[in-house]
Amino acid sequence: MTAHGRLPVVYLPEADERLSSWAARMAPFYAMTVSEFVAALGLKGHEVFDLEWRLSEGQGALIAARTGLSPEAVQAMAFREFGPQARMMIARKSRHYCPHCPEEPQRKSTALPWRFRCPVHGVEFRDATGETLSDRFGSDRFKKLERHAEAGVTYLDAWARGAEQRMEAPEVLEVLTARHRRASPPNVWEQPRMSLKDRRDYQDFLTTPILRQALTIVVPEYDQVAPVLAKPVRPGLHALAQGSLLQCFALTVGIGRIIEDPVKWAISVMLVSDAEGQGRVRQAIGPWPLSLRRSISARFWRAERDERARQSAEKAARQRQSHKYRLIQSHQYRSRIS
Ligand SMILES: [Zn+2]
Repeated sequence: MTAHGRLPVVYLPEADERLSSWAARMAPFYAMTVSEFVAALGLKGHEVFDLEWRLSEGQGALIAARTGLSPEAVQAMAFREFGPQARMMIARKSRHYCPHCPEEPQRKSTALPWRFRCPVHGVEFRDATGETLSDRFGSDRFKKLERHAEAGVTYLDAWARGAEQRMEAPEVLEVLTARHRRASPPNVWEQPRMSLKDRRDYQDFLTTPILRQALTIVVPEYDQVAPVLAKPVRPGLHALAQGSLLQCFALTVGIGRIIEDPVKWAISVMLVSDAEGQGRVRQAIGPWPLSLRRSISARFWRAERDERARQSAEKAARQRQSHKYRLIQSHQYRSRIS
């Protein structure tokens, strides 16, 4: 291969293929490592993941000249449509796999944590264990949840491209990942069925405090199916950037729900928060628009008052009940002795 001429053999990029994937397919053809191949393109010393994130026009033109691909085709392999805020969301390899896709090419869209179906085959992605979200949720429930996830996906796509939005994704994720209650050991319904002996043997597991986050209130379906030890997600944006397939799906559903009705969901979380947790949730909604925060405050005050009224009505009813019961008892007692 000459230093400056055109490469004799060049693979065409596949649909939605990323530059790192294309370079990884090309390099072995010339018996090179990826960095040697990048050097052969005239970009010695550049890391392929940096190039695919931000390929300058000059770098793109260099690759185009060396390969005979059009500059547009080269740029299409880079993530230029994404704003700087989205870089941490882009994984170096596809996050999950489609059973019908070969390992190469790696597509740009599958680097994002809010993709749950193969863009080519339309089937659900599988996680590393081979499980799909339908397996986990049951297919009916998954289909219902997917509708909320769609709202989340549209919103996240727009956010990643830098669109102006009422609330930024990090601000929504701060609320979803806020610890609304004190950490607590697995509830009975969260524990697997265990014999008495197992319960003794797994005492550590049964007493491990689990972080309790607003996500489980906004997406109770996740709370019900997530393995208890893998239930907590990382704080803020990291929850999505580093989450499992199940966690990212739940977060995307949660984002979809909050975007559709932020006031309702903020109040639902605050009503079941403990005192400290409520402070954290309030802090998390701090950057939300003032008009939203005002509606939340006003409606939360009413919701709390209604809740107190409901509780005292219940208490009064219980007292009446037990008073009546006592009356009946004393009557029976009297009738028995008479
Ligand atoms: Zn596929």
